[in-house]
Amino acid sequence: MIDKRKFYINGKWIDPYASKDFEVINPSNENAYAVISIGSKKDVDIAVDASKEAFPKWSVTKKKDRIELLEKLLCIYKARWDEITNTMSQEMGAPLDWCSSAQTASGADHLEDFIFRLRQFKFEKNFNNNSTNYIVLEPIGVCALITPWNWPMNQIVLKVIPALAAGCTMILKPSEIAPLSGILFAEIIHEAGFPPGVFNLINGDGAGVGTDLSSHNNIDMISFTGSTRAGKLISKNAADTIKRVCLELGGKGGNIVFSDSHSEAVREGVRNIMSNSGQSCDAPTRMLVEKSIYKRAIEEAADEANKIKVDIASKHGNHIGPVISQTQYDKIIDLIRSGIKEGATLVAGGPDKPNGLDKGYFVKPTIFTDVTNDMRIAKEEIFGPVLSIIPFEDEDEAVSIVNDTSYGLGNYVQTQDKEKAKRVARKFRSGGVYINGNSADPGTPFGGYRQSGNGREGGDWGLEEYLEIKTICGWE
Ligand code: NAD
Repeated sequence: MIDKRKFYINGKWIDPYASKDFEVINPSNENAYAVISIGSKKDVDIAVDASKEAFPKWSVTKKKDRIELLEKLLCIYKARWDEITNTMSQEMGAPLDWCSSAQTASGADHLEDFIFRLRQFKFEKNFNNNSTNYIVLEPIGVCALITPWNWPMNQIVLKVIPALAAGCTMILKPSEIAPLSGILFAEIIHEAGFPPGVFNLINGDGAGVGTDLSSHNNIDMISFTGSTRAGKLISKNAADTIKRVCLELGGKGGNIVFSDSHSEAVREGVRNIMSNSGQSCDAPTRMLVEKSIYKRAIEEAADEANKIKVDIASKHGNHIGPVISQTQYDKIIDLIRSGIKEGATLVAGGPDKPNGLDKGYFVKPTIFTDVTNDMRIAKEEIFGPVLSIIPFEDEDEAVSIVNDTSYGLGNYVQTQDKEKAKRVARKFRSGGVYINGNSADPGTPFGGYRQSGNGREGGDWGLEEYLEIKTICGWE
């Protein structure tokens, strides 16, 4: 059993003040293989005190010194690439090759981009030429960063790096079910030589440490990525202290496939939702297909889903892994059963485990057709390899179905008519739109409308979240 019970506070690995043991489970075989600590209110207080003490010095460091440290961090990240990949693969079930090229790579890409942005970023500017007003952007202070398990390193980097770049100090609480990549990241921070107290890590659950961080009087900002359910609780718990609350929450993306789409559009949509075993917030989970190509699309979607192999994460190859936990597995299977009960047609997959994979949280790539937007499988975030296909008559109907959700994170459109694609992109109520399989570059803002959140991560927008804005009048 790997023992990772210590917390990283004030530049040292220390024993928690009062804690409970918590076992980390490998989702490919259901075996506990590591133990962490679930912290307490006292641990939160110790970490907040360390961050508060480090803030005055760190917040006035020169930009070039922060860039130097971030460059060192990037070097160490790259040197420990395989270790990062193996750690994430084991804790959350992403197969090794994909984990390296997508999960580990996304952390490095964002790190590189933040260094580039920081170099050009202006923290001070004249309001205009004939005014004595001067605008100064200052680090907001002590930040709590709470991350999920589905893209662990990507989420950590998207918060920790802009917070460091801005001059904030911080306490990271990674997901308790995939905490080992966060612990490894703390080791990398230590190796890079950041001053004690600037970055601190404690482990814990949402109800305990998560709530203590959200409501803490000496925390100035909370940046959270996770479920809309937890985002609502965090907002309520943070309300009394008026701290800044930045939320990156769930999604229920729509993907409109018009009859003039390129020939791979349906198959591409299926592969996109099944990737990471369906555990991505911006996955295109509802595919809307124009009625004239509906029959062909169903055949292609079922064929593509049946081609996708499911296997354990530690094998090399082009397969998908298990879902994260027993709880997630039960939720996904319940939703698959609800789809059958509510009258959708199951054309691939289903609630049974894939052949030969009785142990581990494995779900068959599943496709439902004849779905209506009021069914649970079309409304709720399933967070598993399950696609709902909905037929439509015309553009207006398709757009209105896509927008008929409480979420608004990522939506997709497939058509060879460029004007139609742009028109639809403007009509979508979401923070991201992906035309014909194009993806977002590092440094673009990522975030959601409505109940998908209220912040933007990545690039200058991600950096600005960690800054306060001061107007000084009479600056001559
Ligand atoms: P989760 O909300 O259960 O947990 C996320 C984190 O929040 C964990 O660290 C957890 O311990 C903590 N937490 C839980 N309850 C809390 C509370 N009451 N107070 C404070 N902290 C609390 O989510 P999850 O299952 O880990 O992740 C999956 C969810 O994350 C999905 O809904 C997915 O869409 C979302 N997500 C969103 C984005 C985005 O950028 N919008 C990215 C990745 C994942």
